[in-house]
Formats: sequence, structure tokens, C-alpha cells
Amino acid sequence: MVADRFPQSKAEALALLAAGGGPVVAGGTDLMVKRRRWSGLAPAIPETAVYVANIAELSYVKRRGSKIEIGGATPLEIILEHPLTPALLRGAIKETGSPGIRNTATLGGNLVNASPAADPALALTCLGASVRLESVKGVREVPVLGLSTGPGRTILNQDELLTAVLVPMDDGWNTAFVKVGGRKADAISKVSFASAVKIDDGIVTAFAVAFGAVGPTILRLPAIERTFVGLSCAEVREREKDIILAYGDVVRPIDDQRSNAHYRKTVALNLLSEFIRSI
Ligand SMILES: Cc1cc2nc3c(=O)[nH]c(=O)nc-3n(C[C@H](O)[C@H](O)[C@H](O)COP(=O)(O)OP(=O)(O)OC[C@H]3O[C@@H](n4cnc5c(N)ncnc54)[C@H](O)[C@@H]3O)c2cc1C
Repeated sequence: MVADRFPQSKAEALALLAAGGGPVVAGGTDLMVKRRRWSGLAPAIPETAVYVANIAELSYVKRRGSKIEIGGATPLEIILEHPLTPALLRGAIKETGSPGIRNTATLGGNLVNASPAADPALALTCLGASVRLESVKGVREVPVLGLSTGPGRTILNQDELLTAVLVPMDDGWNTAFVKVGGRKADAISKVSFASAVKIDDGIVTAFAVAFGAVGPTILRLPAIERTFVGLSCAEVREREKDIILAYGDVVRPIDDQRSNAHYRKTVALNLLSEFIRSI
């Protein structure tokens, strides 16, 4: 029955997935495009699809301890308007699609779509956010970094639903999101960059940078980042050349319809240089 595919609660959705249902359809802004048929027929969404956009308990923004918890099916526009939303995530959502897309597209869909060019996912990776994955068998919490294993691929099992995103608050952090696209609005990133740094008494106490569209997944390298913690701002700036060399080894973009590898790598490393000089 069609009604079965529109569960009204998280429990109903998980039961449908446990019975072999899927794919999950949230806003459908990625899925409809991926499954479009050029003949003009409706997109090829299977009858077993589980529609989650109407599940109220999956759409919210609230504080949970030192974190912000966002329901997996919360539309991006709701998150953009919410006063609790961390500045870096707000900046990334502002640059995502158009208001029409943002009213339909969800945060969970942006993450599970697993595009290396996804803007909200880039901000969440930089902020060290995690996601809650649920099935009838149980719940697990995993970092956003590592959720995607390649374009369109994730670690989710067929019966798992992304039910919430947990985002550390970025109070006291200096954060920035930069998107380079083909036009000012409604463009998919050619390359994107997010940064977050915390400085106490001239000493770097936390440092995070993430790159979008420079490889098969969003790129963040905590092992390199940790080497800057404890340095003075001047010491970090003095290491600019070494930092660029270190990231230059791992930033490996591709040529595609939106841009080419050389342009992407040059811009990505220039954005990193600018950030280092601003510390
Ligand atoms: C015109 C246009 C412009 C766009 N511009 C941008 C842009 O600038 N930046 C950007 O980042 N993106 C952009 N997008 C992409 C898109 O809007 C986002 O990725 C969106 O957030 C996906 O969310 P959704 O709810 O529509 O996902 P859907 O299309 O419903 O689903 C996407 C994938 O996630 C899975 N899924 C969805 N929700 C869940 C869940 N809760 N649990 C488990 N699996 C789930 C689905 O099965 C599917 O595989 C654009 C899209 C369009 C059409």
C-alpha cells in the first residue's frame, strides 16, 4: 500500500527499512535528479521507497549539553533560520542552492548523498560533528568524517536511518566558509573550504580545516591539524610553506564538468594560505 511508504513515526520508518524497504527519500532533491528519466516520465523511485520528510520527530533543532542536535530530516532553511545553529554551518547552508531547494532539502540527505562537494557536510566535517544512525537492531553514533567512503557511498547499512546530527557549538571559534562556484547562487561547488580555529592568549588551542571537491570524499586531516595546537599564531604563520606542502600531497582533485584538477588544487591551497596568514 502506498500509505505504508509514508511512515508517520521514526519507529514505523525503521520497521519498513527492517522489512527490506528503501531507498529512504527525504527532500528528494538529490534522489529525484539521480533517478530522473529523460523520457519525461516520473523519476524511477522504487515502490519500496520510505518517505521520511513528513516525520515530525525527525525535524528539529535543539540544544543537548554542549552540542546542538538537529533532526536527520530537518530542512536546511529551518536550520538556517534557527538561532542555535553554529555560524559555520549557517554560512554553508546560506551558500547551498536556492531558498526553494533549502526548504525541501534536508541535512540528513546532504550527508547520506555523500557528495565531496556538499556544502553543509563540509561545515559539519570541519566542526567535528557526528551522526546518530538507527535501525531496529540498535543505535550507533559515528563521526561525519568517515561517514562517506566515496562519491555516493557511505557506511550506512540498508536498514539504517540517519536520525540526528550532533554539532559542537562554535562559540569562541573563528570560523569561515568559502565556496567557489560557477555563479553567485544555486551553484555546486568547484572547490570549497571551511576553517575553524580557537586562539587563547595568542596560542592556537584548536585548529580544523576541511576541503570540498578536491577528492572522492570531503578532506580533513586531523593528524596534520594536531601539529599546530600549542603553537603561537606567529609560529603557525611561519610554517605556511610547510603546511601548504603537507596539504599539497593529499589534495588530489579531478577534472569534471564543473572544473579541472589544476584549478581546483591551486584555489584550494590559496584558500589555505589565506587562512594561515589570517591567524
Ligand atoms: C538545483 C539544486 C541545487 C543544489 N545546490 C546545492 C548546493 O549548493 N550545495 C549542496 O551541498 N547541495 C546542493 N544540492 C544538493 C541537495 O539539495 C542536497 O544534497 C540535499 O541536502 C539533499 O537532501 P534531500 O533531503 O533532498 O535528500 P534526498 O534526495 O531525499 O536523499 C539523498 C540521499 O540520502 C539518503 N537519505 C536521505 N535522508 C536520509 C536519512 N535520514 N537517513 C538515511 N538516508 C537518507 C537517500 O536515500 C539518498 O540516497 C542542490 C540540488 C539541486 C537540485
